[in-house]
Amino acid sequence: MIHDKTLDQWQHSHPLIADLVRLQPTTWFNPGLAPTAQALGDVPLTLADVDDASARLERFASYIASAFPQTAVSKGIIESPLLPLAQVQAALCAEAQVPVQGALWLKADNLLPISGSIKARGGIYEVLKHAEDLALAAGILQPGDDYASLDSDRARAFFGQYSVAVGSTGNLGLSIGIMSARLGFKASVHMSADARQWKKDRLRSCGVEVIEYASDYSVAVEQGRQQAEADPRCHFVDDENSINLFLGYAVAARRLQRQLEAAGIRVDAEHPLFVYLPCGVGGGPGGVAFGLKQIFADAVHCVFAEPTHSPCMLLGVYTGLHEQVSVYDFGIDNRTAADGLAVGRPSGFVGRSMQRLIDGYYTVPDEQLYRQLAQLEAIEGHRLEPSALAGLPGFLRVTGERQGYRQRLGLSAQRLANATHLVWGTGGSMVPDDEMQAYLAQGRTLLAGH
Ligand SMILES: *Cc1c(COP(=O)(O)O)cnc(C)c1O
Repeated sequence: MIHDKTLDQWQHSHPLIADLVRLQPTTWFNPGLAPTAQALGDVPLTLADVDDASARLERFASYIASAFPQTAVSKGIIESPLLPLAQVQAALCAEAQVPVQGALWLKADNLLPISGSIKARGGIYEVLKHAEDLALAAGILQPGDDYASLDSDRARAFFGQYSVAVGSTGNLGLSIGIMSARLGFKASVHMSADARQWKKDRLRSCGVEVIEYASDYSVAVEQGRQQAEADPRCHFVDDENSINLFLGYAVAARRLQRQLEAAGIRVDAEHPLFVYLPCGVGGGPGGVAFGLKQIFADAVHCVFAEPTHSPCMLLGVYTGLHEQVSVYDFGIDNRTAADGLAVGRPSGFVGRSMQRLIDGYYTVPDEQLYRQLAQLEAIEGHRLEPSALAGLPGFLRVTGERQGYRQRLGLSAQRLANATHLVWGTGGSMVPDDEMQAYLAQGRTLLAGH
């Protein structure tokens, strides 16, 4: 029995489960999608909360520019470029034998400074928020101060009395660990078995304690949580439930709005914006989608992408079981080359509060991630890690769908011709060269055999 039903009963009541269990690429357009104005009420946060997070990151910009000189060019603001993907779009459309409709773009979070992934948004924000709370309460900082003063031995000695802990498949640990250690916190990262060796080495070289587990992400998180509970001076970054992580991701939306304007890209009912977000536990894509829905409302269509071996959010929302269900319950193994997405149980907070705001969910086989990793590198020169490729096939799932989704939403051929499809490229620039060469070799081999 799986949650009170046999697998047969599940497959009868939820037909897509058969495909998920057989690891078939699956696409599900959400019949529960609701008008944005109505569905935003499900989220216990507002645009004012996002703007507050954005203002906090601006207060910290002088500190960031001082502590991380690579951010001096952007004056301490951690942001990624918006890049056209016209050639890859043409190649993928030719391969699928479909006409090019709309325009494909990349949000290159692989290039985010400091930690090279989308976690440089939420992860770094949460550590900064915690540091600000402590420093203001202790009088180390006064409102209105120049936060560059935190890049000092005095501040580091203060933060050194406190610690930060997190459980991670790798990238969140990198962001939290690098930022915490730089501020002076004692940092410990509980790493799941999927985490790449170079991420552990990198963290240890920054003075972060890395605790390794032979098991998956959920176990690493639980161990981190327990360690932190035993120590009142330890702040646990709760990837499954943290409001601050979520808000840190959401800040991306306002900044993207400015980038779209600068690129002359319109977003409205006649010019829909589709955004394809790789999903692990859900906080990153959920936070970004929340920010985007606040700004673009019904004109933006957010779609989550997961590996066929780790479809936890699709399964959680589709069955309505959310964090009560794990992919293992259905015999799905949670083993994927997309280490950033190797999560078996979704965030209940994200699943529940975003379930009427997300247009759809789909799964991608690892071989396709590798193939597209090599294609993107060959055609456009962008180097993404496997997880970050999950968003690339999304536009073909939308334009080729036959579930009545486009019709239901009034997404006519004319509107699709005006559409912008945005692939959220969630990570890659920190991957060491030998590791990237191995990814590329794998992808090229698959392409040659295609
Ligand atoms: C963490 C991560 C994601 C997904 O974020 P979640 O908050 O776990 O859903 C996507 N891509 C990469 C590269 C990541 O590291």
